[in-house]
Amino acid sequence: MDYLPISKVNTVVYCPRRFYFEQVLGEVSRNHHLIEGQNLHQRAYTERNERSDVLVWSDDLGLLGVIDRLERRAGSITILEYKKGRAFAEANHSDAVQLAAQALCLAASRQQTATEGAVYYHASHSRREVVFDQALFAAVYKAVALMRQLLQASQPPAVAVSKQKCSGCSVIDACQPELWRNKKPMAEADR
Ligand code: SF4
Repeated sequence: MDYLPISKVNTVVYCPRRFYFEQVLGEVSRNHHLIEGQNLHQRAYTERNERSDVLVWSDDLGLLGVIDRLERRAGSITILEYKKGRAFAEANHSDAVQLAAQALCLAASRQQTATEGAVYYHASHSRREVVFDQALFAAVYKAVALMRQLLQASQPPAVAVSKQKCSGCSVIDACQPELWRNKKPMAEADR
């Protein structure tokens, strides 16, 4: 079994084309967004000792990854994930599905149940709570199926996300989304 990083669940939900460029073509450009994100994760660990880095996995899903932090309060467990940016509507869903994937892996590998998660966004110093439900867990399985499908694909999927999502994307130079959008009628390209 080839295990995929849990973080790629977020990537494929955010943009399947980005997943293809990163995971199949190996296009990871260390742009400033990526480097800042890595630095913030590191600072949370070394300066504030906030991270606990729990390794989790699921043989069923074929996923493996690290949970930034587990908060334990009054018998309940919350999964905490640190993000560099600020919350915006279109990224919220992919972040939530990533947390749900971490919850499934936590249950499978450590027999611990987390009923909710939270994303801490460094740029806005805000925290967003996510309650896990069946729809989120179903989205994880759907994302994993899509990843396996894309790994077998001979070419990347078409550009199918909004311009806001492309802002700051680490593979934008390889992707060239505007070339794609310019080939389409305006109304369709602005979706
Ligand atoms: S630039 Fe936009 S369309 Fe291209 S991979 Fe990144 S998010 Fe997806």
